[in-house]
Amino acid sequence: MKKMTTVCPYCGVGCRLRLIVENNKIIRAEGAGGVTDQNQRCLKGYYGRNFLNNTRLLTPRLTRPMIRYEKSGKFVPVSWDEAIRYTASRLLEIKNAHGPRAIMTTGSSRGAGNEANYVMQKFARGVLNTNNVDCCARVCCGPSVAGLQETLGNGAMSNSISDIENSRCLLIFGYNCADAHPIVARRVLKARQNGAKIIVCDPRRIETARIADRHLQLNNGCNMALVNAFGHVLIDEQLYDREYVEKHTEGLEAYWQIVKDYSPEAVEHLTGVPARQVRQAMRTFAAAPSATVMWGMGVTQFAQSVDVVRGLSSLALLTGNLGRPNVGVGQVHGQNNVQGAYDMGVLPNLFPGYQEVTDPAVRKKFARAWGIDPSLMDDKVGARITEIPHLAMAGKIKACYIMGEDPLQTEADLGLVRQGFGALDFVVVQDIFMTRTAEMADVLLPVTSWGEHDGVFTCADRGFQRFEKALEPAGDVKRDWEIISLLATAMGYPMRYANSQQIWDEMRELCPLFYGVTYEKMGDMGHIQWPCPNLDHPGTPWLYADSRFDTPSGRGRLFAAPWRAPAESPDEHFPLVLCTVREVGHDSCRSMTGNCAVLQALADEPGYVQINSEDAGTLGIRHHDLVWVSSRRGKVISRADVSDCINRGTVYMTWQWWVGACNELTQNNLDPISKTPETKYCAVKVEQI
Ligand code: SF4
Repeated sequence: MKKMTTVCPYCGVGCRLRLIVENNKIIRAEGAGGVTDQNQRCLKGYYGRNFLNNTRLLTPRLTRPMIRYEKSGKFVPVSWDEAIRYTASRLLEIKNAHGPRAIMTTGSSRGAGNEANYVMQKFARGVLNTNNVDCCARVCCGPSVAGLQETLGNGAMSNSISDIENSRCLLIFGYNCADAHPIVARRVLKARQNGAKIIVCDPRRIETARIADRHLQLNNGCNMALVNAFGHVLIDEQLYDREYVEKHTEGLEAYWQIVKDYSPEAVEHLTGVPARQVRQAMRTFAAAPSATVMWGMGVTQFAQSVDVVRGLSSLALLTGNLGRPNVGVGQVHGQNNVQGAYDMGVLPNLFPGYQEVTDPAVRKKFARAWGIDPSLMDDKVGARITEIPHLAMAGKIKACYIMGEDPLQTEADLGLVRQGFGALDFVVVQDIFMTRTAEMADVLLPVTSWGEHDGVFTCADRGFQRFEKALEPAGDVKRDWEIISLLATAMGYPMRYANSQQIWDEMRELCPLFYGVTYEKMGDMGHIQWPCPNLDHPGTPWLYADSRFDTPSGRGRLFAAPWRAPAESPDEHFPLVLCTVREVGHDSCRSMTGNCAVLQALADEPGYVQINSEDAGTLGIRHHDLVWVSSRRGKVISRADVSDCINRGTVYMTWQWWVGACNELTQNNLDPISKTPETKYCAVKVEQI
């Protein structure tokens, strides 16, 4: 029997796990006393390892490389030599015929690890010579990065997950932590027990609302109006920290010019929140000696999400809640390595360590280190994952190399995504399961899973943590970075790494922000938060010490914008608003958790559509009835969950299901800055079957 220490692969909290392994099977997962988890785990942490033992798999694990030589043909098992030769030659052919930007690549914000992400973006930039590299964090957390970068100068969570329970006030906006991050929910409960005030802004009566001092049950689609009303009250009632704002921020006058029109009374009809409640909430927030602003995808999955993130961080700036312990702003990420994927430059505008692709000096630095002619490096921001369908149908992207993502399950408007992928000449999928995207591939490259390789993840509070290999994999599979290296070599760029640590050390040398985080140090300290610029540096639990922001002026920028209505409104044909939400026991595309016996048993497919009891009564729908849900884009089967926890006129569907996939219904209306789709709002109808 052996005990291996790892990090849970399911969400950005980054709980540490100890896997107990016997005869190459995991027989138990225990807590390993991580900094973020207080030795606790949620259901996914306990049982999300079942698929590694290869029992009760609904989806087959990929165990050998396969090629579909003809689009209409079948997959043929091939040797690794043939898979690499064929893939390299097709990619080269497309690059030579259509240029480097005709190829799109993705990293993975899941179990692949930071080293694989670093190597993938190096392959895109150094071998393909394109900045077309992105990951599915675009559909959940992109707006937080863009919004925070604009107002504070850094796109990451400002403080530590462990700070939450010591904050004296939590403003929780569009974030159902009980389902998304149960270990964060425990910290929220602890904060409440410690006497913190809790303000929840959510259209649904979510679990956290039950322990909140105030629940502002706003209408769907009006986040910006409510955030502006918050700012209005802080200034109008002189609740803001005048000295802090004068010393450390800029843009107060322009900010007021927008929010002055958003008094709680003026927008009460729009937000649905009584003005008195808005004013009381801001009095509570401003009076707290320390306050934290937390949000989730109820903020980021709208076409005006970057503006709302900027508005929420402005509330922290107005009240001086940054740059010290137990305050701050941020989003805990849905997948476990969203932060790591970003850290490693799986972004079309940034190299690893948040260095701009448009900066010639940065391009030169990376080109020199990688032994490449700097003139070959792409000097333009690349394409985003959400733009693939449009670019493919316009003939601008001809090939996609997808690593550890399943866009045909997780992207908005799946009909459009299928059309886009159908228009591509060549699709390579590197994954552990036969996902929806893998089914459409020309080449399948089977990889080791979390549990079968080692590396480093970054949890949502910028904390790097190492994870160990626990099992020998079954089948003829390779590590992600090993496959990418073989492809690079076959394409004429020799790339050889002996192990993960060698990749990590190459990355550190190029990224001043991470330089001090060595494998040895992570081994000793467990969780090290960047910035960590030198070997003696202990890491940074909170950003912006002394309230010096990473903006050109060193000041935080206050920001407000007029509210914009969502792109689609309910009408006589589609009278209800659909909002997508999370199923507590499953991860994003469910490929791993859907193959774990205990988690499978939690709920059946198709997933539920939560509907208000009065709406259900009008439609003659009873609890657990099978129903059709349709939008202008598609129609799916689901099971009614009749509830009084939600407002009338809305329905909620969990997005993880393969049958009843709600992304058949959602729309690809993108935020103009982050290019994140508006999956939290579209018009639908629900009918009895
Ligand atoms: Fe912790 Fe998240 Fe894993 Fe649950 S899913 S054990 S909260 S890391």
